[in-house]
Amino acid sequence: MQNLLLTPIEYLKGVGPNRGELLRKELGIYKYVDLVNFFPNRYIDRTRYYKINELQNNSAEVQIIGKIINIKTVEFGRNQKRLVATFVDDTGQMELVWFQGHKWIRESLKLNEICVIFGKCTSFGNAFNMAHPEIELMSEHEQSLRSAMQPVYPSTETLTNRGITNRVINKLMQQLFLETQALFTETLPEYLINELKLIPKKAALFNIHFPKSADVLAKAKFRLIFEELFFIQLQLITKNLIRKHKIKGHPFTTVGEYFNDFYQNHLPFQLTNAQKRVIKEIRSDMGSNAQMNRLLQGDVGSGKTIVAFMSMLLALDNGFQACLMAPTEILANQHFIGLSELAETLNINIRILTGSTKIAQRRIIHEELENGTLHILIGTHALLEDKVKFKNLGLAVIDEQHRFGVEQRSKLWKKNAIPPHVLVMTATPIPRTLAMSLYGDLDISVIDELPPGRKPIQTVHRFDSNRLKVWKFLRDEIALGRQIYIVYPLIQESEKMDFKDLMDGYESVSRDFPLPQYSISILHGKMKPADKDAEMKRFSEGKTNIMVATTVIEVGVNVPNASVMIIESAERFGLSQLHQLRGRVGRGAEQSYCILMTSHKLSSDSKTRMETMVQTNDGFEIAEVDLKLRGPGDLMGTQQSGVLNLQIADLVRDRDILALARNYALKLLKEDAGMQKPEHAALRAIFIEMTKKKNIWNYIS
Ligand code: ADP
Ligand code: MG
Repeated sequence: MQNLLLTPIEYLKGVGPNRGELLRKELGIYKYVDLVNFFPNRYIDRTRYYKINELQNNSAEVQIIGKIINIKTVEFGRNQKRLVATFVDDTGQMELVWFQGHKWIRESLKLNEICVIFGKCTSFGNAFNMAHPEIELMSEHEQSLRSAMQPVYPSTETLTNRGITNRVINKLMQQLFLETQALFTETLPEYLINELKLIPKKAALFNIHFPKSADVLAKAKFRLIFEELFFIQLQLITKNLIRKHKIKGHPFTTVGEYFNDFYQNHLPFQLTNAQKRVIKEIRSDMGSNAQMNRLLQGDVGSGKTIVAFMSMLLALDNGFQACLMAPTEILANQHFIGLSELAETLNINIRILTGSTKIAQRRIIHEELENGTLHILIGTHALLEDKVKFKNLGLAVIDEQHRFGVEQRSKLWKKNAIPPHVLVMTATPIPRTLAMSLYGDLDISVIDELPPGRKPIQTVHRFDSNRLKVWKFLRDEIALGRQIYIVYPLIQESEKMDFKDLMDGYESVSRDFPLPQYSISILHGKMKPADKDAEMKRFSEGKTNIMVATTVIEVGVNVPNASVMIIESAERFGLSQLHQLRGRVGRGAEQSYCILMTSHKLSSDSKTRMETMVQTNDGFEIAEVDLKLRGPGDLMGTQQSGVLNLQIADLVRDRDILALARNYALKLLKEDAGMQKPEHAALRAIFIEMTKKKNIWNYIS
């Protein structure tokens, strides 16, 4: 059976060399097995008949029973004609329209005989019409042997133009099931099938292509989606196990002076339980012989920095160096200032390296790095330069991972024979199951608790027409000694226009909040790093009341006295960006506010985004909505999109099945890591075949 399925597709009756070529090129179908696994992307339910008074505009294809009572040719424009038939049932009437093939159609239409029409409806004023419907007399219709749910396969323009229509694919599929007698072998172990009440592989494949009802179709889908996700999870988890086995790491066996001294004498606050748990997880990772590769997720303000710092202390305690890489200079600077404060009490040598570090300073850094007297290096991409050579890098912390490509990350790697432990910190909340699928070979820690005493940020949505009231509110807050952010969108395609928006905004804010009573900072991407720092410093020292900025402040900026975040043209921001921006306030003891300013014209997606922001402060909840609106590819950034190449599963829609598949895969591998048991033989064979293709490995370092 296996061999028959590997037959080249052109040998299937009805295909041949020409169509074979097209199927390969357009759909990637090379063999019988590829065609079997070519799934419809939707189905037309032909079990249901509509009445004319039930029709809705732009609905999917519908079928209606009725009769044609009148046919006429209507002229329109110059020399243009169309054929129009009046079709009625007992609830109303509608028009059938043809723009081409009039003569032939006119001859084939029968007046006053009961027939079934099928097609898409559009409304025209109060009336509906259907263009180029399929028509069958009732007597024919009752005899036709079409399956109740009609599959619609993905197609391309070339295919349609070359006559490989949906109907043709359908026929080929029938032929294939005939030739192979649908003897598809079972791929999942019997106990799993029983436990999950899955239908057999053979039945699933049959019903995905030829479903008799919505019910069997749902069962077929569930079985195939589960299977696809299950195999991916088996691969990801196995890869993780192998990595832990094979990639040696520096075992940090000692918890020494640095860590203990800091923990006992210099902690600036009590750690939250979540922070404690995560530090434990990291300690246990780095204490083993394997290299740590861990993703640390925590909402903005959840306190990831101290976790990173204490992890670094463990590296130092074991005689190693540590580094922290941030995506922007501002952020690197902030980390440097913050960590220097923490490090001060411990006599740690800590330095910063960015694009604007002076040459003399660089020399010192290079030298100290190589002779090992520099303990911690903070920086930007500059850390990846070839000249930067650590004596013994033990831990690399990477902040805000989604801004660094995979390639860049592995560059840090190559600097050492034994790779450093890697801790990737991100404030982009990714639902856990999804993160596990996309970053399957990273372990994941989550800080799911904010430090105590934080007041939830109050978020409101205001239209531009209410600006006067908003400005009044700002004056009141400033009078109370608070500071304000006003952020303008920056979207690369229209950078010029955005810059103008920002400058116009700055001017009008300056006019409404004039010197000497008020002072305003401005921050944008085109400024020199030194100027940026200076402006940032003025604001964080409280010398200015308002910071007008682009999204450069999105990540990491920390000014506890800033209590209001105004986001201009908020409809132009994505949800995760809005949430990141909002996270800039709410860091002090005072009640904080986020005001989303938009025009009145909002798309329904924009409306959902604003409502979500107003309703919740929970990053994970927001991520869920974001996922629904955008799909996972977008969320992860373009580099990750499409990497999994899923046949039938959808990581967002099917995330419950994903979680189920993951749990079963974990359980299976825990009991039988090598899939050696007899009941796993089939599984193992498929697994080996899949791993050969390596189709899912190339997206992560
Ligand atoms: P993020 O996870 O966004 O990087 P930070 O590490 O910058 O968050 O922490 C945000 C703020 O919360 C900082 O001012 C930090 O000092 C403070 N903080 C962190 N952990 C605690 C804690 N357990 N108790 C009180 N304050 C904390
Ligand atoms: Mg941070």
